[in-house]
Amino acid sequence: MSKVHNFSAGPCILPQEVLQEASKAVLNFNNLDLSLIEISHRSKDFVEVMEKARSLVKELLGVPEGYQVLFLQGGASLGFLMAAYNFLPEGGKAAYINTGTWASKAIKEANRIGQAEVIASSEDKNFSYIPKGFGIPNDASYLHFTSNNTIFGTQFKQFPVSRVPLLCDMSSDIFSKKINVSDFDLIYAGAQKNMGPAGTTLYIVKESALGKTGNNIPAMLDFKTHIAKDSMFNTPPVFPVYVSMLTLQWLKDNGGVEWIEGVNQQKADAIYNEIDRNPLFKGVTAVEDRSIMNATFVLNDESHTEEFNKMWKDAGISGINGHRSVGGYRASMYNALPLSSVEALVDVMQEFERSKG
Ligand SMILES: *Cc1c(COP(=O)(O)O)cnc(C)c1O
Repeated sequence: MSKVHNFSAGPCILPQEVLQEASKAVLNFNNLDLSLIEISHRSKDFVEVMEKARSLVKELLGVPEGYQVLFLQGGASLGFLMAAYNFLPEGGKAAYINTGTWASKAIKEANRIGQAEVIASSEDKNFSYIPKGFGIPNDASYLHFTSNNTIFGTQFKQFPVSRVPLLCDMSSDIFSKKINVSDFDLIYAGAQKNMGPAGTTLYIVKESALGKTGNNIPAMLDFKTHIAKDSMFNTPPVFPVYVSMLTLQWLKDNGGVEWIEGVNQQKADAIYNEIDRNPLFKGVTAVEDRSIMNATFVLNDESHTEEFNKMWKDAGISGINGHRSVGGYRASMYNALPLSSVEALVDVMQEFERSKG
């Protein structure tokens, strides 16, 4: 068992059991005397892995009929472009909410296909809140938003209600809580925040919504290509898909999304209570929009930085330095991070307060 409290923002902590199982499969998969990563992706053994991964996604999120689950490559960063290619007619208009770095990148990619109209933004306050009360143009092909803003530490607590189709980048909070998949035409997420290692991206797409743009979509960027081949149009990223499957199985075995939602809330309550209680720290985001996954905070007196940094490092805490665009600290509390790690961080914050007493 690792003694490090791993708060990395991504790639991030995975369950120890999953890492153990994955390391075994690298040496000898399914008692084949072959490695998982040296067998054909068309072999029965790997096809079973892919099918299991896809069916676990459906089961855990309650994916309804009419939706397809794909494990592809390119990261959520390619997802920005694929979303636009598949849902925005060339020269057409789509609505975007700009809540930070990732949302901005999605907007940039959509502007290659048509016009991404930014209907709401929190850029005026360095993305420290979630915009509310905006109108959504009825003639937009869709509304795109980022459910959890990994870098700034804000999260949509309620999803926008929209008459136009909803497309969402859920990279950093998928599987952290219950969602209603049928509200969306497209959900996508890079694996490395809550599901597995970097190298695969999950897409959940409403099949009947595809094929309506008239765009000449390159084969690899066309969801229909991958649907027709069950995520096996080309060689899939076998190891990331396998580890994602193990992580989803771990989630299911422990009680699924309903269980983890409760745990995640406990972790978030523990850290935010301390940030609010401890006079040496303050949060940097609007309280009602605080992310359950990524808690951002700063020291009230920056001259204490070195001292505090030494203290948490000595306590075996890793990965809480804030993103360079925000500074301060960011505690990323993805599914596999135990409550005890958050408690260890809270202990350090309290010890730090006493040392200043
Ligand atoms: C990390 C992240 C991305 C980028 O994912 P890649 O897989 O590195 O392309 C996009 N969106 C969000 C919300 C993220 O957290």
